[in-house]
Amino acid sequence: MPGFLLDLDGTLYHGDQPIAGAAEFIRWLKEHGYPYLYVTNNSSRTPEQVAAHLAKVGIDAAAKEVLTSAQAAALYMQEQRPGANAYIIGETGLQLAMQEGGFTTADEAPADFVVQGIDRSFSYVKLAEAVRRIRAGAAYVLTNPDHLLPWNNELQPGAGSISASIERASETKPVVIGKPSPIIMNYAIRRLGLPKEHIWVVGDNLLTDIQGGIAAECHTALVLTGLLTRETVQEHVERTGVKPELVCDNLQQLSGHIQAIL
Ligand SMILES: [Mg+2]
Repeated sequence: MPGFLLDLDGTLYHGDQPIAGAAEFIRWLKEHGYPYLYVTNNSSRTPEQVAAHLAKVGIDAAAKEVLTSAQAAALYMQEQRPGANAYIIGETGLQLAMQEGGFTTADEAPADFVVQGIDRSFSYVKLAEAVRRIRAGAAYVLTNPDHLLPWNNELQPGAGSISASIERASETKPVVIGKPSPIIMNYAIRRLGLPKEHIWVVGDNLLTDIQGGIAAECHTALVLTGLLTRETVQEHVERTGVKPELVCDNLQQLSGHIQAIL
C-alpha cells in the first residue's frame, strides 16, 4: 500500500487559493485508505491552524494529519535535552510547539537552545539576544532553511534569511529541522508507519520536498502547480542536480500513475 508525505503551499493551495484537483486527490487517498501526512516547513501555524486553512481551500483535514517543522523541532529537542530552556524566535506555531514539548522560556536561566523560525517581528534586539545565547553555548536550531517565500506573486524573506544574520554574528551553523533535513523526514516516515519504499514524497520544490524525499530513500513526485512549470523544470533539475522520480502537471496525474503501477 502506498503512503504519501504531502507538501502544502504550491501543492494543495496557493496562499488562500485552492489548486484545481487537490481536494479530489485527498478524497481519492481517503477512499482507498492510503496513509498520508501533511508535512510543512512553515513553523508559523499550529497544526490546528494548518487544518483550518486546508478547510478554507476545500480540503477536509485534521490537526493530527499535520507535521510542521515547529513540531519536528520540538521532537528533536526533546530527544537531545527534554525540559530544557529555550530562547524562541518565531510565531504562534513555534511558540505553542515549544510549550507543548515541555520547554521552558525563562529569561533568567541560561538557554540550552535558541530555536528559530519565521518571525515577522524579528528585530536587532532579538538578533542580539539569540547571538549572545549561542555564543554562551546554546545549541542553535532552525525550523526551516527556506530563504524566500512566494506571497501574492512576490517573494518575501523566510526563516532562512533571518538565520543568515544569526549565523553570521554567532559564527555558528544551525541544526536544520525542516525539509530537506532527514530530521523532519524521519519523524514523518515514522508517523506514517510504512516502509520508505512505499512512501511518495510529493511537492513543488526540488530543493526541499524532492531533495528531502531522495535523501530519505522514498519515491518522489514533483508537481508543476507551484514554483516550477513545464518550461522551467528541466533547467532547474539540471542546475540543482535534484531529479524527481516523477514530474506531474498536477495531482490527478500522480493518482493516475499510482493506480497504473499498483
Ligand atoms: Mg511548496
